[in-house]
Amino acid sequence: MKTFLSKWFLTRRERYVERMKVKGKCPECRGLGYIITTSPYVSNCLDCYLCEKTGLYTIWEQNK
Ligand SMILES: [Zn+2]
Repeated sequence: MKTFLSKWFLTRRERYVERMKVKGKCPECRGLGYIITTSPYVSNCLDCYLCEKTGLYTIWEQNK
């Protein structure tokens, strides 16, 4: 069951990344360049370091 769930999650993640690749957007921040978080311990808006705030898939792929 656990294996099934993690496989399902990975497949879902891969499909999402694939979609973002087609759009040329960073999967981490959805092309925004920043990540909105609801955590009370950090600011609500974090710079996306994986795409260097560009929101581009190509930069994300280099840094992931
Ligand atoms: Zn990003």
